[in-house]
Amino acid sequence: MRLYENEAKRVFEREGLAVPRSFGVFDSAEDIGTAVGAGDRVMLKALVLIGGRGKAGGVRRAEGRDEAVSFAADMLGRRIRDYPVERLLVEEAVDAPGGAAYVGVTMNPADFNVTVIVSPAGGVDIEQVARETPEKVIRLELAGNEELLPEAEASRLAAFLAAGLPGGASQVGALKEVVSRVYAAFQKYDCKVAEINPLLLSASGPVAADAKIVLDDNGLFRQGGLFHLLGLTAPRHDVSEPTPSELRAREAGFRYVDLLAADHVKNPSKLYVGLVPGGAGYGIFSIDEVGNIGDRFFGGRVVPVNFMDSGGGPTEAMVAEMFALLFDNETVDLVVTSRFGGISSCDIFIRGLVGCLRGRRQAGRRVVPVVGRMVGTDLPSARDFLERARRETPDELEDLRITVGNRKIMAEVIREGIREAFARKGWV
Ligand code: GDP
Ligand code: MN
Repeated sequence: MRLYENEAKRVFEREGLAVPRSFGVFDSAEDIGTAVGAGDRVMLKALVLIGGRGKAGGVRRAEGRDEAVSFAADMLGRRIRDYPVERLLVEEAVDAPGGAAYVGVTMNPADFNVTVIVSPAGGVDIEQVARETPEKVIRLELAGNEELLPEAEASRLAAFLAAGLPGGASQVGALKEVVSRVYAAFQKYDCKVAEINPLLLSASGPVAADAKIVLDDNGLFRQGGLFHLLGLTAPRHDVSEPTPSELRAREAGFRYVDLLAADHVKNPSKLYVGLVPGGAGYGIFSIDEVGNIGDRFFGGRVVPVNFMDSGGGPTEAMVAEMFALLFDNETVDLVVTSRFGGISSCDIFIRGLVGCLRGRRQAGRRVVPVVGRMVGTDLPSARDFLERARRETPDELEDLRITVGNRKIMAEVIREGIREAFARKGWV
């Protein structure tokens, strides 16, 4: 569940972080005219549950009451990427002679490590900073899930921020507190994301000019105190935007989650692996396994792309759509799949997969190599079908490597598939 900016700021404020003075939350320009003084310099901020509002006209700075009223009238009722702007947060505008930083804590979805990210290049998209100027970002992973950020790490991160900010030298101590407190808040409130971007270095110290908190829905049951603080009586529906692939899977009737942000830019020195794994449990395990094998044997250059639950007896058409969705994703280089039988039939699975590959090859559409294993229900007829299919259309199935039966463990199948994919790219 994602919090609105004003809610996230109340949480951070409670944890001892400075936030801009608020004039309140308003749904009419007229009320803003009453609350804002003739000479007040304020920020008007659309309360919508998405980022990047600044670029989309959802954050504006007004010099005094008249401008505030006219900007508010313009912003209210508009849409920002399909989200209607019904309420505005009005705050005093903060000056930042000392510069703007980024401070974020999140969880690595591949290995569940708590991850702290800081950068002295605040106010812009952090993914872009990481891509274009990686030396301006520190990304620290903590495998121990510590309640509090260890002192030494907090000091190191603060020193890095201070060195990169024009006004950093005199605020190292305050920056260390900010990083520690954002981290502590992340843990205390069972967050998936706790982020300040930008953290502005004002004359009186660092101020959280923007705040983002996404709570882990699985932890909500023990966050009664937080709900009380925010005046909430029940969890809100998570209305974060589904990605195009997630929408497509929803329409086809299977569960799918993208692990990479919709605007993720592919790193050309990494191999991106899509997963059609079987049931939900195996779906999570596959993400972990592909990531671990990549870290251990391939220099950390392997990226799992998605979670999928392809169990529960999907139809042939549904199986075909699971693969088609990944083939259509230009990021995906390789698909790893496994079928454990159980409720699901290997026969239906292999017919769906072969049908998808054939159809797309004949239509000249994108496919990528598929490696995997099938074991269990209907295996003999599945094996017969696959052998016949290979005789009939060898070219269309040349990128398909399916181990039939469990003479190999999945870890081996995955490792070999990745090794072949690396070889095709000329990386080994
Ligand atoms: P986002 O685009 O949805 O992340 O919204 P932000 O709250 O981050 O606002 C967008 C941009 O407006 C920020 O990156 C800052 O450059 C600027 N901004 C927001 N609040 C303030 C403020 O109080 N003072 C100043 N100087 N700039 C601000
Ligand atoms: Mn922001």
